[in-house]
Amino acid sequence: KAAQSIESNFIFYSEEMNQRAKEHLRIESELRQALQNNELALFYQPKVSLRSGRIVGAEALLRWRHPLRGLVSPGVFIPVAEETGLILDLGEWVLEEACRQVREWRDANLIMPPIAVNLSARQFDAGLPHRIAVVLERYGVQPDQINLEITESLLVRGTDNVIAIMNQLVAMGMSLALDDFGTGYSSLAYLKKFPISTLKIDRSFVIGLPYEENDCAIARAIVTMAQQLRQEIVAEGVETAEQMSFLRELGCDQLQGYLFSPPVPAIEFATMLREGKRLAFSR
Ligand code: C2E
Ligand code: MG
Ligand code: MG
Ligand code: MG
Repeated sequence: KAAQSIESNFIFYSEEMNQRAKEHLRIESELRQALQNNELALFYQPKVSLRSGRIVGAEALLRWRHPLRGLVSPGVFIPVAEETGLILDLGEWVLEEACRQVREWRDANLIMPPIAVNLSARQFDAGLPHRIAVVLERYGVQPDQINLEITESLLVRGTDNVIAIMNQLVAMGMSLALDDFGTGYSSLAYLKKFPISTLKIDRSFVIGLPYEENDCAIARAIVTMAQQLRQEIVAEGVETAEQMSFLRELGCDQLQGYLFSPPVPAIEFATMLREGKRLAFSR
């Protein structure tokens, strides 16, 4: 009886894994197609200053306009792309598209704050600075127009190699932000080893503000530390005026979140900039 139930568990489990593998394969091949068929797009989410209320940057976020499934979020396909290595091609496309867009905006006489692009740890090899330099040059974009968001997994890998590549990027004039800060395994000691100019407090610590004592303590500790290290600090996933006020009083520099705007298509972001949309502080 026991053996039988173990066996049927096994069959059940492997059937589930089989489904998952099939799903992955399907997403992978469709994603390759998507890259060729122009189904990918970048949306832009503004970052606003907690001092002036003005838009001081934006993050480019990948979207997949699937012909049947509609807008597919990166939560679904980035992990698959990471696993299969397709993230390298996707990452190249993202860099290129961000630079192309920045150039288009400049040609339209829009004054653009820096645009941040997310980098996968897999993109981070010795050839990266050169690949980025080539794209910047192709579109005549200045390096300080593009910021790079990296995650803690890269720091944990923490080789001299990674530091050298980061230093090269910084020497080129780019700046690095540490994304989803607090969710990874990096220790605080890592922070000063790497040339990172901005910390992004992960949304999971912002959600509970200002009511969850633990989240408040964590947010306060991160902001205090970032100030000591002279790093800019951005809170992600800010949805309420209460969260905003709390972060502002802490001395957090910028926020990004639905409170101000979700990620929007390029044309809508340009409109916000042109109209000078600002964050209202009074409640
Ligand atoms: P991320 O870099 O931490 O991006 C922030 C995510 O939080 C975005 O999800 C954004 O839409 C979402 N968000 C922003 N404000 C709020 C808010 O107020 N409330 C809530 N609930 N969510 C908010 P998105 O666009 O689905 O992207 C998810 C993740 O996928 C990103 O997390 C990033 O890790 C990855 N990703 C997106 N685009 C790229 C890309 O071009 N390359 C790479 N390597 N990864 C990407
Ligand atoms: Mg990011
Ligand atoms: Mg983030
Ligand atoms: Mg995140």
